[in-house]
Amino acid sequence: MAYQFQPIGTIQSPFKEKFGIPRQPGLVPELRAQLVLSAPYSQPEAVAGLEGYSHIWIQFLFHRSVKEAWQPMVRPPRLGGNRRVGVFASRSPFRPNPIGLSVVRLERVRVEDGGVVLDIAGADLLDGTPVLDIKPYLPYVDNIPAARSGFAPQAPPVLLKVRFTQRALEQIGEYPEAENLESLIRRLLELDPRPAYSGKTQPARIYGMRLYDFDLRWRVDEQGVEVLELAAL
Ligand code: SAM
Repeated sequence: MAYQFQPIGTIQSPFKEKFGIPRQPGLVPELRAQLVLSAPYSQPEAVAGLEGYSHIWIQFLFHRSVKEAWQPMVRPPRLGGNRRVGVFASRSPFRPNPIGLSVVRLERVRVEDGGVVLDIAGADLLDGTPVLDIKPYLPYVDNIPAARSGFAPQAPPVLLKVRFTQRALEQIGEYPEAENLESLIRRLLELDPRPAYSGKTQPARIYGMRLYDFDLRWRVDEQGVEVLELAAL
């Protein structure tokens, strides 16, 4: 039987492409985003009481992965990209039903021009991600401290030291919108967003990652990441 769902809202985030997005929520707490509810769900009544919760679950569509065929086994980055596990033992976006689940911090519930906007932090989501549902996070059921977690027993470690060129620091200082941009960039890059299975042996390579309205350029050498510049798009 086929079911049809209509998104209830959309994510607005600094990530304009998949490369560089943290691989799970909460890894970069300074990452701010908005969940903008859509009509007819964008009514203050539909979120009444939600402001009492510090965290929410967001169910969303991996809308930029839907065209790719799913496979029964995938190669999670946590296993170095060269070992396979079943798709249902993974958080891969490439699934039979491309539905994602992220827990994020709820900073504020706003009513703007009669519509509803949720300010959230820590989301691992692309700009434009369609949201299917929101539920409050309930620690007494959702937090299971003694749970086993297979091949991902703890948060990924900080892998790289991050430094900035003078030019990059000046550009960050002049960037109008993003508060804490320097620490945001540092957190994103110290997790090493490069694909697990390739590209790690190319010291001369300059990586580009679309963030807000600029292209963040950086490279990796034996000392870690060097942030080169915030190039205009
Ligand atoms: N926390 C979610 C889960 O477990 O369902 C997502 C985990 S998934 C590994 C996170 C990755 O999905 C991000 O790093 C990004 O590359 C990708 N992603 C985020 N939003 C997406 C979207 N709308 N469409 C396709 N891929 C997306």
